[in-house]
Amino acid sequence: MSLTTEFTTADGYKLTLNTGLFINNEFVEGSSTIETINPSTGQVITAVQAAEAKEVDAAVEAAHKAYYGGWKNSCPRERARLMHKLADLVERDIDELAHIETLDNGKPLKDALSFDVPGLAGQLRYFAGCTDKVHGKVIETQGKLSYTIHEPIGVCGGIIPWNFPLAMLSWKIAPALAMSNTVVIKTSELTPLSALKLGSLIVEAGFPPGVINIITGYGHVAGDLLARHMKVSKIAFTGSTAVGRLIMKAAAETNLKKVTLELGGKSPNIVFDDVENLDEAVFWSRLGIYMNAGQVCCAGSRIFVQEGIYDQFIEKFKALAASGTVGNPYDANTIQGPQISERQFERVMGYIESGKEEGATCLLGGNRVGDSGYFIEPTIFTDVTTKMKIMQEEIFGPVVAITKFKDVDEVIAMAHDTDYGLAAAVFTSSLKRAITVSNRLEAGTVWVNCYNQISENVPFGGYKQSGNGRENSVYALDNYTQIKAVKINIGL
Ligand code: NAD
Repeated sequence: MSLTTEFTTADGYKLTLNTGLFINNEFVEGSSTIETINPSTGQVITAVQAAEAKEVDAAVEAAHKAYYGGWKNSCPRERARLMHKLADLVERDIDELAHIETLDNGKPLKDALSFDVPGLAGQLRYFAGCTDKVHGKVIETQGKLSYTIHEPIGVCGGIIPWNFPLAMLSWKIAPALAMSNTVVIKTSELTPLSALKLGSLIVEAGFPPGVINIITGYGHVAGDLLARHMKVSKIAFTGSTAVGRLIMKAAAETNLKKVTLELGGKSPNIVFDDVENLDEAVFWSRLGIYMNAGQVCCAGSRIFVQEGIYDQFIEKFKALAASGTVGNPYDANTIQGPQISERQFERVMGYIESGKEEGATCLLGGNRVGDSGYFIEPTIFTDVTTKMKIMQEEIFGPVVAITKFKDVDEVIAMAHDTDYGLAAAVFTSSLKRAITVSNRLEAGTVWVNCYNQISENVPFGGYKQSGNGRENSVYALDNYTQIKAVKINIGL
């Protein structure tokens, strides 16, 4: 059976797609297959192999063998060399990787070229630099010599979503590899292709077999099996809060593996009337909600605008939101692609209907764009109340709710009226206000006078039900190490 397929994208780029499960540095067959759909057209791209119990076991066994077979005690400089080599290959093949990401996910090609693929290389390089910078401590204890060692954990599972397939994969593999762990990644069934392409680059870079394994398959099958596997010592998950709960439960019911979760959000974006440049606040606020068609965990989906500039903000924001091209993601002018799937399309349209039914004003958008693919107009709701579904639930689409506020206490109370706490933003020209409001906000990230600015050297993660643990930066290394204390009797 052939485990590759040829595909030519809408802009004429010829791709060879890997469709097998990537286990032990080989592409292999699975127990069944899954079709992956081009969200820009609704047409099938190809079928990929789906992992079930036998293949999940094979992937974990390969990772287990690679861990004890040498990777656990590998030389930091060698791990760094391999990670840099993989980053070189990612940069060499940026066009191909970006085309695959756009094909499978629908995001504008220019975004895949400027954010997703460079983000993957950036993660590999940043964490390559960490391989030799994690040290234990010597601790003064009477009559004994005490010290700590930071050891790897073992086989680390990563379950990733479809909104940033390569970037999310890199957030899981880079810190894990740097700290001498081996990995099994389960991609989203909606976007398996770019990770499988990376499989060939992993072989070309020279990683030993089994160090990185990438399986495709359904969440409730392959994802659940990975989360329950007794030889998986840690699982990192990004996705919905509902599945995050299942992952914790799976860990609790099996080997109590360590769990880190990066979940949903309903992030508040607060615009004070002392902003120095309203156009800039509008620019960032638009990026905050409509980037990646609103399919961003930290999307600024609730905008709060102080009453003095509310009307002006609405006028400018509406004009800017209406001005972007929604459609063909290979077109350089396109700012917004489709939603990922028919299911997500229907879900977002359902939220738009609920906003209208609950009495909010749909100021802009609310409709499908075109008659094929899963495109939705940038949508704005005003006249919202905090208890409406569109103000409480993560929509994960190009839909924003804008509310007027009077003062700081009122807006903080409104901002906190959610189960989530992933991110927030504050727009103000007052340094004092920027700091005091940032300090009060219950969110893992607060952006001041910008939005959606994420980098590999700054921690990212959630307060409240947006998750636990931090990814990116040296803080992420804690997730992939365990500390051993050694106490030596020196007879004094
Ligand atoms: P999801 O949480 O179902 O999927 C995320 C990943 O989890 C996928 O790889 C999936 O296969 C896997 N999965 C699903 N069920 C599983 C299970 N029982 N055990 C183990 N793994 C499992 O997300 P979705 O259904 O694709 O999207 C639904 C909603 O989730 C979205 O509308 C959005 O609100 C949220 N979401 C958030 C993020 C984020 O970045 N935080 C990403 C994707 C989706």
